[in-house]
Amino acid sequence: MTNAPPPPTTAAQSARTILTRLHEVMASRTNAQGKLNQVVGIIGECLNSEVCSIYLLRGGSLELFATRGLKQEAVHVTRLALGEGLVGMIAEQIETLNLDEAAAHPDFSYRPETGEELFHSFAGVPIIRRERAVGVLCVQHSDPRRYEEIEIETLQTVAMVLSELIANADLVDTAARIDAAEADQSAQRLSGQKLVNGMGAGIAVFHQPRITIEHTVADDIEAERHRVYAAFDKMREQIDRMASQAEFGIGGEHEEVLETYKMFAYDEGWSRRINEAIDSGLTAEAAIERVQQRTRMRMRQIDDPLLRDRMHDLEDLSNRLIRIVSGQMGTAAQMGLRQDSILIARNLGPAELLEYDRRRLKGVVLEEGSLTAHVIIVARAMGVPVIGRVRDVRTSIREGDLLLLDAAAGTVQVRPTAAMLDAFEAKLEISQKRRADLAALRDLPAVTRDGVTIELMINAGLREDIAALDLTGARGIGLFRTEFQFLVSATLPQRERQQRLYRDVLDAAGDRPVIFRTVDIGGDKALPYMNVDENALEENPAMGWRALRLALEREGLLKVQARALMEAAAGRTLNVMFPMVSEPWEYEAARNLFVGQRAWLASRGKKLPAAIRYGAMLEVPGLAETLDLLLPHLDFLSIGTNDLTQFLFAADRAHPRLAERYDWLSPTVMRFIARVVKTVDGSKVALGVCGEMGGRPLEAMALLGAGIERLSITPAGVGPVKAMIRSLDLGALRTDMPAMLARPAADPRGQYRAWAESNGVDLGD
Ligand code: PEP
Ligand code: MG
Repeated sequence: MTNAPPPPTTAAQSARTILTRLHEVMASRTNAQGKLNQVVGIIGECLNSEVCSIYLLRGGSLELFATRGLKQEAVHVTRLALGEGLVGMIAEQIETLNLDEAAAHPDFSYRPETGEELFHSFAGVPIIRRERAVGVLCVQHSDPRRYEEIEIETLQTVAMVLSELIANADLVDTAARIDAAEADQSAQRLSGQKLVNGMGAGIAVFHQPRITIEHTVADDIEAERHRVYAAFDKMREQIDRMASQAEFGIGGEHEEVLETYKMFAYDEGWSRRINEAIDSGLTAEAAIERVQQRTRMRMRQIDDPLLRDRMHDLEDLSNRLIRIVSGQMGTAAQMGLRQDSILIARNLGPAELLEYDRRRLKGVVLEEGSLTAHVIIVARAMGVPVIGRVRDVRTSIREGDLLLLDAAAGTVQVRPTAAMLDAFEAKLEISQKRRADLAALRDLPAVTRDGVTIELMINAGLREDIAALDLTGARGIGLFRTEFQFLVSATLPQRERQQRLYRDVLDAAGDRPVIFRTVDIGGDKALPYMNVDENALEENPAMGWRALRLALEREGLLKVQARALMEAAAGRTLNVMFPMVSEPWEYEAARNLFVGQRAWLASRGKKLPAAIRYGAMLEVPGLAETLDLLLPHLDFLSIGTNDLTQFLFAADRAHPRLAERYDWLSPTVMRFIARVVKTVDGSKVALGVCGEMGGRPLEAMALLGAGIERLSITPAGVGPVKAMIRSLDLGALRTDMPAMLARPAADPRGQYRAWAESNGVDLGD
């Protein structure tokens, strides 16, 4: 071999020499087969190996596609099944083999047409695409010698580049077919916790789509190194910031995850290995993936569930790094849903969910999630079923798999069989029938059996929600979350846009009342475009600078909203409600701001609302202590049970581990509400509940028992809650209620349920 290059001194140099030459081959106009022929020549020559061969998966078996050193007649003739022979084993196990005597290995399978009996040593590495082997690259030598670690590393780096060639060249069809052929077709069932009821079928779409690496060979190594440095900085910044966000509150599971993230993010070994891979001639993206592949290979050999979890975190971080470096920060929402889909994510923010086309979004599967997180409220408003706390999502579900989501059962069927599909459709039909029965209640009043009328309103926040008023027959909108418009916008909505939305809502509502809540931003409703530096560092955003606190300091924001609301409600009654009032003066300050804006508009001759009614939300328990001071200034008061329970129990409403720990029906919540009812009783203030609690028949029943007669709930809850109301003897419940509150059972939920059952209350299940 007269042209052989001098022996390389490091794996990086060795790989770089090969990669430079491969780069030229890949850029040339030769056809795919021609390129593979050149590739085996270059690798064999550079590694000083007599044989170099490439096997690719075709039709379910590994076919010899190109070789230097074996007989050419064997090309496209020699085939090995997955798991057969050394090559089949490498592909099946996704592992590397390095043997000084190939024939001595128990899995060796001799193929006479290749003429390989001349060769003793053997080293092979899998060619990986999308975490599966699509082929094998191997070298053989007549001397019985083990290949050096440097050579093995070089082979692995080259295999990475080959996977790009296979994907980009004419062979891409082969690889695509492999994807289909090799996909695990077996049905599987995953379980989780019901977060939003309902059923849905669709194909699996990952919120964070898999990243495609376009180029593996670097043009400029220094530039790649800088890209990776910058990406590391950005990723570390993100991880540090995550520590101060609501979903990563202090303690428990999240803290552990965060600690692991930090450990990996700052791990010198990890960044060093990526740098070495860049030295070998790979682009930043390919280098990160290369290191990731190597880690995966090592981890596969360790059977430890704890380590597997850690692996999942590292994968997450590695993907994040690739996403940053490649600028592919988009989510599946930006690409658009092309057919009925079930979205899969670790967790989501409300704004992220709102970006999806709700007509095609048939369900959401979360690895985390909790009942009153805002994303769940949004999903409920969108009518999208959700299950949370589902394990093994990433290993069991692949993009494009058919999924059947049954939130009531807390299950998702992956790749269902025809029989499963039939059973699902039959159940769906029954639930649609139940829904139709409930819809028939639309025009009937929400009156209890003993003649008490309950004011049943809906919660809304988006233009699309307006239709729910007519569909449900609700009495009005008891909570319009104005911040949703801010959440779905790419930029801060200006006054005209706000005004247009409010006017459309009022027009659609006609003479039905609408209660507009001023912006409740902050907490888990952060706005990406709003400069809230102070907020970014909060350790407890839910208890931080949010809602009215933020609005009173960002006066400009609240003033704009006040004017938009008043102009939209010109000539009509405007109902305004302030969120998260903690002390009466905050309510006074907000109300004064509105009064000031009203005067300002009047001074400019603008048409004003016929009347303005002011209300506060009771979400901070402390406000209950000063209600007597506040009541004389209020027109209405609405208990927000989502935040209220989070603060009563000091339990983050978005924390997955706390999701089921405390019950709305516990004496803590029920006594608190009964006490507020008593305090408000006799005043002119209209008292209601607008948290998620009121949207569930059993909880709604308990609230009525405690004295509440106004509920504003999720539209999907109107039918079931109205059915409950119409079957309830409220007088009988109120007679029994004091005893249930004074001497609660160990299982209060069971106690209320038993009462409902023995009194013929329709709870819908
Ligand atoms: C609540 O806290 O109960 C409430 C209705 O407000 P939100 O869920 O928007 O915080
Ligand atoms: Mg709230």
